[in-house]
Amino acid sequence: MNAIIIESVLFIALLAVVGALFVTALGITPLGRRLRQSSNRKRIDKQAELTCPIHGLQQEEDLVRLPTGESLCPHCYQEAVHGHIA
Ligand SMILES: [Zn+2]
Repeated sequence: MNAIIIESVLFIALLAVVGALFVTALGITPLGRRLRQSSNRKRIDKQAELTCPIHGLQQEEDLVRLPTGESLCPHCYQEAVHGHIA
């Protein structure tokens, strides 16, 4: 019984080590570098979408979805609909 338990624990430890090696290898290989560069581009694109040229960075939850499908800064939308607000 003890042998089965020890074997199970060792097998799980082996899986953890293999997983850690895979994640580490992904970080230093050309494929890992490509994936990281792609994720950097997506992160910067998303931040650019959330940044209003007038009011700066906005929270994604606060953006207003226009009927055309575009999202707009809530301050710009308030100004367009209700006129200038302080
Ligand atoms: Zn704005």
